[in-house]
This record gives sequence, structure tokens and C-alpha cells, in this order.
Amino acid sequence: MTTFQDGAESVTPAGYVEPQLLIDGDWIGADARHAEPIVNPATGRAIGRVPHATAQDLDRALAAAEREFPKWRKVNPRERGRILKRAADLLHERGDAIAQLATLEMGKPLFESKIEVHVACEELEWFAEEARRSWGRIPPGRFGDTRFSVIKQPVGPAAGFSAWNFPIGNATRKLGTALAAGCPMIYKPGEEAPASALAVARCLVDAGVPAGVIAVVFGVPDTISRHLIASPIIRKISFTGSIPVGKHLIKLAADTVKRTTMELGGHAPVLVFDDAPQEAVLDQSVQRKYRNAGQVCVSPTRFYIQDASYDAFCAGFAARAKALTVGDGMDPATVMGPMVHARRRDGIEALVQDAVAKGAKLLAGGERIGNDGFFYAPTVLADVPGDARIMTEEPFGPVAVLNRFSGLDDGIAKANSLPFGLAAYAFTQSLSNIHRLSDEIEAGMFAINSFNISMPETPFGGIKESGLGSEVGTEGLDAYLVSRTISVT
Ligand code: NAD
Repeated sequence: MTTFQDGAESVTPAGYVEPQLLIDGDWIGADARHAEPIVNPATGRAIGRVPHATAQDLDRALAAAEREFPKWRKVNPRERGRILKRAADLLHERGDAIAQLATLEMGKPLFESKIEVHVACEELEWFAEEARRSWGRIPPGRFGDTRFSVIKQPVGPAAGFSAWNFPIGNATRKLGTALAAGCPMIYKPGEEAPASALAVARCLVDAGVPAGVIAVVFGVPDTISRHLIASPIIRKISFTGSIPVGKHLIKLAADTVKRTTMELGGHAPVLVFDDAPQEAVLDQSVQRKYRNAGQVCVSPTRFYIQDASYDAFCAGFAARAKALTVGDGMDPATVMGPMVHARRRDGIEALVQDAVAKGAKLLAGGERIGNDGFFYAPTVLADVPGDARIMTEEPFGPVAVLNRFSGLDDGIAKANSLPFGLAAYAFTQSLSNIHRLSDEIEAGMFAINSFNISMPETPFGGIKESGLGSEVGTEGLDAYLVSRTISVT
């Protein structure tokens, strides 16, 4: 395991970099603070401890953000972009070591962690370029000598909170966007995977982000978010996580009318029509379903297969799921790793048992693997009744739910039946199907004939209860800017 800068990190015997807090340019270890263990989900054993920020730590981070905002907003966007580009280069150089940290602390296979580093670099590069395009507009006038202009300015210091499932990519999305727009950010990554997020922050600091412009803190999530959201210094909240927590944070933000971006959960439907190339769709579906052990907000979950293809699709899906190699993410043979913690594994187990008790057919998996770590077998359920909890609750785990649909109207109705709308997928050769699906499927991101759902240039976000606003794309930067109207006569 290499260190990232100057050997200042403490590396544990397990090869893990001991997490710290980053506040006003200081890297702060646990000292007298409370610290919680970080567990490698492949072994169930602790590999380090993450310090909890005190109220004084949070107030220091807030004061630094307030102090630095007037300076950072005035740094020319081209210069902000140069710093972000340097950070992307550092992230790329340190990528192998950072990928190992992510696999150690949250379990995904090392090859997936390396892909995550690559995507995170691309997103930082996007914002490095996009920073300079935060321009406004001058509409034609209508009051004689009066000229109206619309200018865009950074909203102010932001607070970012995100989940552990993409610990590198979530960090670049939150911090990279805020910095590009000219906003300081206090960022709280998931406590399960702190070292990967800190490694991203270190790239940004080493690239030239001034002390106090970013802070990284950990603690009891509700305590941290209440403290930061109540502060008048914070003007913007960005959260990635579950729908219940998102609703709670929106309510807290309402007290001081702070803007929010909410990337919340989904329950993605996949419509597979009879005219789709079944073997190719099966290969892609199984690969995408079990990526990151299903702990992906856009993970395909409710598969609806048109009647004539249903039985063969179920058999093909189950055979492929059973053939997947499950193991420690550090093992190059591993295709699917453990779930992030026992709580998620137990949650999946309960959802599967409930579905089977209500009449679903278990075609593959449905059990824990081994006695160490938090492994759950790639699972396939078919003929799942509508009253099974898994039909309405996001599993966020390695379970595929297979059911039938009869035709286009039935497929659209089933796909749209939940109050969520993050991602959706469909496979069909028919242009008329494609047109109607494009218009009527209720999802912020809809992929037809592949699972390619996003790229840095396109907005990533949900509709209905899956979220508010978007990240990345031009919309991602806009979320950190306020539009003001100026008239000059
Ligand atoms: P969770 O909402 O409990 O936790 C997600 C993150 O939010 C964690 O890092 C947690 O520490 C933090 N959190 C929890 N309570 C908080 C609070 N009161 N204030 C601030 N932060 C808080 O969910 P989970 O079970 O750990 O993660 C899975 C959920 O996250 C799923 O529902 C999934 O869809 C969602 N998620 C969504 C996206 C997306 O982009 N839409 C991405 C990843 C995860």
C-alpha cells in the first residue's frame, strides 16, 4: 500500500490508511474523540477506526467555509478548473492504491473499484472544463435604455452527505461540483468507507484547493446533518442516500430555506420484449444486476419479461447467477463481493424470505455464504406476488425479481407502478415501442437496449420520490449557482 502525499498517513498492518478528519487544512486523528470501527465486509474484522467530529470541529469547519467563500468565489473559474484537472491527474496516479482502500472498506471487487476511479477522474475533468461556463444571459430589452442581464453566482458554502456505495465517485461528485461552482463544501461521506473519500480530498488539497475551502467530517449522521443544516452559513445541501433520509433532510433544510439536491433511491424496472436478443440481454442483465452486490441506486431490479420469452429468460438468468464467483474483492477471481455490512445482508435476507413465504419461486441463491463477512448469494426470484415487500421496497442488494408482462400498455403500467423514478431500462427492436416508452416511462434516466445510463455530460437524477435536481451534466453545476437579475438604465 502506498501513501498519498508525504507519509503523514498512518497505515495499519491490514494495509489500510487510518481515517482522519479534514478541518481548515488540518488532518486530525481520533485523539480524545470518539471513534468507531471500520469493518472489512469480506472478513467481518475491524481494519481501522474513524474519528467522530465534535460540535467544536463542525463549528471550526463552518467558520473556515464562511471565511474562505468570498475568496474562493473570486478565484477565476479557469483557475478553479486547473486545480480540479490537477486533482484528477493525482487521482489517476494514485488510483490503484485508492481502489484498494475502497475494496478493503466496502467490499466491491478490485476491478470495479478501478473502474470507479476512472469514472471519478472523468467527472472531475468534466467540472474542470464546465467551471468556466457558469455564464448568464442578456435578453433583448423592452424598456428603452434599460438593459437586463441575468448573472449566475455561487450559492454559498454547501454541505454534502453521501452513501458508502461509490466512496470515490460520490466524493468527486459532491466536492468537484461545489468547487467548480465556487462554493466551499463540508462533506460527510458514509462512515463505512471513509478512507477512499479522504483520499479524494487529499488529491484536491495537494492540487491546490486552499485550506478551509473543503472539510471532511464523520460522526453520527443525524447529529452532523442537524448541526450543519441549522447553520445560517450553509446555503446548499446535497445528499445521496435513501428516500426516508432524503425526506428528513428536506424538512430540516426548509427551516432556513436552503436549496437541496437529492439523489435518492430507486427500484429500476427492466422491460424485456419478445423481439429482444435474449442471450445478449441476459448477459448484460446479470452483469449489471450483481455489480457492487446490487448496492447501486440504478441497479436493475424489477425485470418484466414478455410472456413468450418468460420461461427461457428465467432459466437463463438463474443459470448465469449461479455461475458467478462470489468472494473477497481483493481476489482477482471474484466477480461479486460481500454486502457492505451485516445490516444490509440481514435486510436482503428478510426481503427474500418474505417473498418466498408469499409464494415467489426461488430460482437461485436465497442464502448466506460462509461464516466470515457479509456474503449473500446472487439471488433470483420469479413469479413474485405484488404483496411481497420486495415489489415495493428497494432491495439494494443482489436480488433480481422476475415477472411477466403481456404487451406495451401492461409493461408501461407495471414499470410506472411505484412512487420512485430514478432509472429504467427496456429492450426491444420496435421503433414504435421505443417512441412510446421514451415518452411514458417515468424515470429520470431511461436506457433502451443497453444499461448505459449516464455519462459526465448528462444529468444524473431521479423524478417522483427518487429525488430533486441532478448531479453532473450542466444541470449539476447549475445546482450550486443562483441566478440574479440586474437591470441597468
Ligand atoms: P441511508 O440513507 O441510511 O444512508 C446513506 C448515507 O446517508 C450514509 O452514508 C449515511 O451515513 C447517511 N445518512 C443517514 N442518515 C443521515 C442523516 N440523518 N443525515 C445525513 N446523512 C445521513 O441508506 P443506506 O442503507 O446506507 O444506503 C442505501 C440507500 O442509499 C439506498 O436507498 C439507495 O438507493 C440510496 N442511494 C442512492 C443513490 C443515488 O444516487 N440516488 C446512491 C447511493 C445510494
